[in-house]
Amino acid sequence: MSDIKIVLASGNRHKYREFADFFASLNGAPGERAELLSVADFAQTPGDIEESGSSYEENAAIKARICAGFFGLPAIADDSGLEARALDWKPGIYSARAAAGGDSGRIAWLLGEMEGKNDRRACFKASLAIAFPNSREGTRDYFSSEGVCWGNISNRPSGEDGFGYDPVFVPDGYQKTFAELGRAVKSKISHRAIAMRGVALLLPHVVKYFLAYCG
Ligand code: IMP
Repeated sequence: MSDIKIVLASGNRHKYREFADFFASLNGAPGERAELLSVADFAQTPGDIEESGSSYEENAAIKARICAGFFGLPAIADDSGLEARALDWKPGIYSARAAAGGDSGRIAWLLGEMEGKNDRRACFKASLAIAFPNSREGTRDYFSSEGVCWGNISNRPSGEDGFGYDPVFVPDGYQKTFAELGRAVKSKISHRAIAMRGVALLLPHVVKYFLAYCG
């Protein structure tokens, strides 16, 4: 039995799988347990939320707050992106909007920008925020956690797993892209996996905080 339910503020089914694996791995004590819900579990959703913040954390908090208010439940959101050193750390918070044509269009854009660049250094960054509905005036309305994963941009796409820039990102310590390595590796070393470890530490406090101030 979980003590609270948390909605994942994302319609991305790949992200839902990563978060669901993570929540399933947690063994909270009574009074500290949380169950993950998907926006797909609800008939109505807040729809696309404008990411108007200027950092991953601001965008994650905006998404989590809007979902928490909409569903009347705590909500968890992430904002993430890829940063390439040779491109002055672009596309960053604009990773999902860097080019048209879906994931393949954005990969083509990235490889085009990186053409002729010897410096292939890059990192993925993720910020996760958990926000509460009905926060009392003067109390905090979200907790957050961050993760970074370093690696290199490959010269061509490779692999079928995952999403986004996974086919062109080779994490440090490996010779293959995230799309070739798959969930088993990504769930341990990705930017989101690292940020989730921070959430795992926060979660018992989040549940108690919610029950004390927002219930
Ligand atoms: P958002 O966090 O949904 O706003 O989008 C972040 C964008 O960054 C995604 O659409 C992807 O293009 C990219 N991205 C973030 N995390 C990953 C990842 O784990 N693998 C591949 N691409 C990612």
